[in-house]
Amino acid sequence: MPIDPTLPYDDNNLFAKILCGEIPSQKVYENDWAFAFEDINPQAETHTLVIPRGRYVSWDDFSAKASAEEIVGFVRAVGEVARAKGLVGPGYRLMANIGAHGGQEVPHLHVHLFGGQPLGPMICKQR
Ligand code: AMP
Repeated sequence: MPIDPTLPYDDNNLFAKILCGEIPSQKVYENDWAFAFEDINPQAETHTLVIPRGRYVSWDDFSAKASAEEIVGFVRAVGEVARAKGLVGPGYRLMANIGAHGGQEVPHLHVHLFGGQPLGPMICKQR
């Protein structure tokens, strides 16, 4: 069920619980700004999620309210995860879903990192 990205941050959301260790995850990386873990339902050979430590509902919320330090820290972390997974040479794809049209289901910003295989067309046309 897609979330409403205009609602305030919900401290009980799934990824907040993963961040604090209340719900287990397959961690692949963490630093002061970000935490990365494997998607539970991978859509590609590599499907990793990278989330900021800060309380941001979506990319919209993050890009509007995060400090420059948080933004730099997070963006660099996404790149570090991709490099650590050896994805740069063969190539990979980043995706951040926002709200209903984006199909966002968890109200804590997350960047999907897909790779390990050719990923096909950017988007499937619905009509
Ligand atoms: P989105 O639709 O962009 O909000 O993506 C949410 C992603 O979270 C989906 O790809 C789910 O497979 C993934 N997901 C849901 N629950 C978990 C979990 N417990 N651990 C890891 N990934 C999860």
